[in-house]
Amino acid sequence: IVRLAGVNKHYGALHVLNNINLDVVKGEVVVILGPSGSGKSTLCRTINRLETIDEGTITIDGKTLPEEGKALARLRADVGMVFQSFNLFAHKTILENVTLGPIKVKGMKKSEADKLAMQLLERVGVANQAAKLPAQLSGGQQQRVAIARALAMKPKVMLFDEPTSALDPEMINEVLDTMVSLAREGMTMLVVTHEMGFARKAADRVIFMADGQIVEQATPEEFFTNPQSARAKDFLSKLI
Ligand code: ATP
Ligand code: MG
Repeated sequence: IVRLAGVNKHYGALHVLNNINLDVVKGEVVVILGPSGSGKSTLCRTINRLETIDEGTITIDGKTLPEEGKALARLRADVGMVFQSFNLFAHKTILENVTLGPIKVKGMKKSEADKLAMQLLERVGVANQAAKLPAQLSGGQQQRVAIARALAMKPKVMLFDEPTSALDPEMINEVLDTMVSLAREGMTMLVVTHEMGFARKAADRVIFMADGQIVEQATPEEFFTNPQSARAKDFLSKLI
């Protein structure tokens, strides 16, 4: 459902994505691991065109993302993204944060959007916070709202870029649990994370990146017990 073919990107002299080829099938959960600066965030950002690419093609459900305009906004709705910083609209309520996209981009009626939003907030366990402003919620609750907001666009794939790394330890699990249940419900997910427990529990496939390249891919079982490359061995040895 997501296909990258021959994707290359440079930042000046830095070859940040070096010939990336990646196919993610419907319902698959792919965890992307790799050292800092290896290009994981850049890869996520190119998938919904927050970043341009120099070479190659990226298709979502068979469609190439257009460069700009309304068509881009519509196709981008197919790709939900959750960042490290929750990026909620500070002056809008939790409910409004979730209904804004469906109303603005999809033209959904407010009553219908409210109903959908409440269902999603229920699902991520924060329905009782709907009338509050983001600052009145804990980090873990805000991140679950960010997940609900992305889901409100009925995406075909969800991208997560280190969704728990800005959270206090006691809040990490509530967000990971939400992600695990999403994975079990069959959502297609690409997840950049340092949470190896999540990778072991939920990933169908682990991708290891270094220096802008996909160095290794394997099942989590294989990757954690028997990494092939020196880079992956080195990376794993530093985790403990
Ligand atoms: P981390 O684990 O620290 O989040 P990452 O794997 O997500 O790292 P990226 O954020 O994708 O890494 O960055 C890859 C490389 O590209 C880094 O060397 C970074 O400094 C560089 N880079 C990222 N964004 C830009 C930019 N806008 N302009 C120039 N260089 C950039
Ligand atoms: Mg990053």
